[in-house]
Amino acid sequence: MINDIKQYAKLNNVPIMEDDGINYLINFIKTNNIKSILEIGSAIGYSAIMMAMIDNNIKITTIEKDKNRCLEAVTNINNCQLTNQIKVIYGNALDDIEINNTFDLIFIDAAKSKSQTFFEKYQSYLNPKGIIITDNINLHGLVKDSSLTKNKNTLKLINKIKSYIDFLKTNNHFITEFIDIGDGLSISRKK
Ligand code: SAH
Ligand code: MG
Repeated sequence: MINDIKQYAKLNNVPIMEDDGINYLINFIKTNNIKSILEIGSAIGYSAIMMAMIDNNIKITTIEKDKNRCLEAVTNINNCQLTNQIKVIYGNALDDIEINNTFDLIFIDAAKSKSQTFFEKYQSYLNPKGIIITDNINLHGLVKDSSLTKNKNTLKLINKIKSYIDFLKTNNHFITEFIDIGDGLSISRKK
C-alpha cells in the first residue's frame, strides 16, 4: 500500500519526503511523544500516512491547495483506513483557513519560498513547547553552493531559503537546529 503510493509519487513527480527525511521525522515524533500535527502541504498524503501509522493516538490535520492531489490524498488515506486520524483540508494555506485546534508539531512542506510566511502565520497554533519542522532547507545542495545554478528563479528561491534560515537563527522565541538529512530539515522548538 505505502509502497504503491511511493511508486505513484515517483512516476508522477510528486515531491514526497525522501526516505532518510521521513525516517528521521518518524523517530523524532516517537521520541518527543508528539500526538497532534498540522502539516502544510499534503501532496498525495504520503507523509501524513507515514506519521499517522506510528500510533493510532496521533491526529493530523493536513492542508493541500492542489485539488487533484487533495483528492488523491483522501483516497490514499481511505485505503489505509486512517480517516479517523487524518483530516485533509482543501485550501491555500496562505489564505485564512479555519483551524480549531492547537498542535504539538507543525510540519511545513509546501511552497519552499513561503516557509517563513507559513511559520509566522501558523506559530500561534502551537501548544506550549511546540515544535515547527521545515523540510527542504538544503534545496538539493543549492543553498550551500548556489554556483550550481544560473537559473534566475532558482537563485531567487535560494535567497529566500537563506533568509528563512537567518530568520530562524535570530528568532528569539524559538531555538532552531538544522539537520542535514533528506533534503535538509530545520527543527524549531518554542522556548
Ligand atoms: N508532505 C508531502 C509532500 C508535499 S509536496 C509528503 O512528503 O508526502 C508540497 C505540496 O505543497 C504540493 O502538493 C503543493 O501543491 C502544496 N502546496 C504548495 N503551496 C501550498 C499552499 N500555499 N497551501 C497548501 N498547499 C500548498
Ligand atoms: Mg519536501
